[in-house]
Amino acid sequence: MFRTDLLKDKRILITGGGTGLGKAMAKRFLELGAVVYICGRREGVLREAAMELSSATGGQVHFMACDIRVAQAVDEMIETIWRDGPLDGLVNNAAGNFIAQTEKMSPRGFDAIANIVFHGSFYVTQACGKRWVPAGHKASVISIVTSWVWTGSAFVVPSAMSKAGIAAMTQSLAVEWGPKGIRLNAIAPGPFPTEGMTKRLAPTPALEKRMMDSIPMRRVGELPELANFAAFLMADEVSYINGEVIAIDGGQWLNSAGGFGNLLELSDNDWVEIRAAIEATNAKDKSQRTV
Ligand code: NAP
Repeated sequence: MFRTDLLKDKRILITGGGTGLGKAMAKRFLELGAVVYICGRREGVLREAAMELSSATGGQVHFMACDIRVAQAVDEMIETIWRDGPLDGLVNNAAGNFIAQTEKMSPRGFDAIANIVFHGSFYVTQACGKRWVPAGHKASVISIVTSWVWTGSAFVVPSAMSKAGIAAMTQSLAVEWGPKGIRLNAIAPGPFPTEGMTKRLAPTPALEKRMMDSIPMRRVGELPELANFAAFLMADEVSYINGEVIAIDGGQWLNSAGGFGNLLELSDNDWVEIRAAIEATNAKDKSQRTV
């Protein structure tokens, strides 16, 4: 799909790059010639991912344990990376989430998500920006959000609020840093099977089926699809795209936006009955008009 040197020598940090979507993006970026940095809290997971990624792609991958909830730890990580040279790309991918009834949630539960997603994503973006802007270094930031930034979402309120904050950061900094050659975009994925997604958001077969029924394309996303989209957005060739939040979800979020999306559940027989009922009503109206 792409030239194999599309991201050649670009230095890109992916937060949460040791697992799931982050790891899939790291693999694709490496295949396209980038030098990739991955971070997360668990050093063992990162080490294993880095070994797997470099042996699969032959690319150069570095890992750093860092808790992005801690602003100083973030700054130290970015400083360490900058010693090798400035980053050209950042992917704000690290997150946490769980489903819960909001009225029963503790302040700690709220903070557990908001501290990673809302605060952490800002710390990392700002730590890069404060080095990029004075140096006049061009760069691209992609943040992984969700379609809840447009619709909100019941039962995942801390995540919905925090992701909406990242979307606001994306649009705000696209304007503030655009003149410096730094662009920011966000990707809103639908369901992509990863350990994080399955364990915390679709933990039972009933919930998994309900999720699948909500996707017009009747399938979950495949990791390479998401990784290709991120590589496309990261490339200089599309550098006029700035400040956008783009969904890759098989049309899932639009299905909840219109009033009739749940009619997808009807069978062909249901539609035959509906058609007959409409025709009967029309015929009755017509005969009344004739009288
Ligand atoms: P995942 O495998 O659980 O990935 C989350 C990553 O974030 C992990 O590598 C985790 O590593 C890291 N992380 C969490 N807290 C951190 C912290 N405080 N500091 C540094 N790293 C931290 O889940 P995923 O499904 O790949 O999700 C990746 C992104 O896609 C998230 O932003 C998620 O909201 C978004 N997303 C996913 C889906 C989906 O269907 N999979 C759909 C919509 C949006 P450690 O635990 O080692 O820190």
